[in-house]
Amino acid sequence: MADSVLIIDDSEAVREKIINILESHDIFSRFYQAEDGLDGFKKLLASPVDFILCDLEMPRMDGFKFLAMLKGRQEVADTPVIIITGNEDRELKIKGLEQGACDFITKPFDPEELVARMRVHLKIKHLQDDLRRSNELLLELSNTDHLTGLFNRRFLMEALDKEVQRSLRKNGQIALLLLDIDYFKRINDTYGHLQGDVVLQKVAIHIQKELRNYDIAARYGGEEFVAVLPDTSLKEAYNVADRIRLSIQGMHFAGSLSGERITVSTGVAIFPSPSIADIDGLLRAADEALYRAKEQGRNCVVINKDNIIQKKNGESQ
Ligand code: GH3
Ligand code: MG
Ligand code: MG
Ligand code: MG
Repeated sequence: MADSVLIIDDSEAVREKIINILESHDIFSRFYQAEDGLDGFKKLLASPVDFILCDLEMPRMDGFKFLAMLKGRQEVADTPVIIITGNEDRELKIKGLEQGACDFITKPFDPEELVARMRVHLKIKHLQDDLRRSNELLLELSNTDHLTGLFNRRFLMEALDKEVQRSLRKNGQIALLLLDIDYFKRINDTYGHLQGDVVLQKVAIHIQKELRNYDIAARYGGEEFVAVLPDTSLKEAYNVADRIRLSIQGMHFAGSLSGERITVSTGVAIFPSPSIADIDGLLRAADEALYRAKEQGRNCVVINKDNIIQKKNGESQ
């Protein structure tokens, strides 16, 4: 029981009565009070609560205005509100429910009924909170490569699609880096699959480290990674790719991998360009450049500029 409640009523006597009832039933651990809608809204923003009980008729700001302001603020809009109304206020009850209150309680109220209604709505709120958390987790899992924490291929393809549409609208350029770990099979064969996984995780961290927060880094497959860099020229993309290359080459390992040196080969292509009209074309162009990087000795970055494939630099192993 760690729930908190905010009681908004211009009558101090009503507020105290409600608090006494709720305290005796052990539903809430924290109580906040406010004497009108404005005061309540300020207190709510300062410390969000799990539940609100709100009078309708109050000076300065009444319960309806309070509800309207609550619904306008995303971070508190889902807080359940029970309105407190006079016994014959049929129209007001309906209007309150229409404006987003989850229930009403009629003054003078029966303590047992107040508690019972609050328990029901608190239960619904907890179920909704759980559902939202599960949905967020599911979304994250469905977008994420579980080994490296980077985006997965499914998310990458969706994001690429959006970026391509955006760049066509705005006449922007997208750079794509396709990175492949060199001789990775040897790592698995020598040290085992688990150590291979450690290398993949570490490479992912070093890729991410060199990117801006609106770039997209994804695990494309086994030991291949893709980075999508919106609004980036070929030259800038080359520089980023080479920084990643150097960063990975400089990685140090502990345990059985200590002393190992890992390198990556990278192919870079830009969308749009005369020979690249869509995502498939962009990936193919980067793959051709990557193939050339492998052919030319690995641990290097090769760019594909209008089908002219150039190795910009590199080192021997
Ligand atoms: P190259 O320099 O030509 O890229 O050689 P390579 O050995 O890196 O390439 P190859 O495609 O022959 O081997 C890739 C290896 O990656 C084979 C596969 O077992 C391994 N691999 C793929 N996914 C995983 C994974 O999730 N974990 C581990 N440990 N290994 C993986
Ligand atoms: Mg009142
Ligand atoms: Mg590969
Ligand atoms: Mg490889």
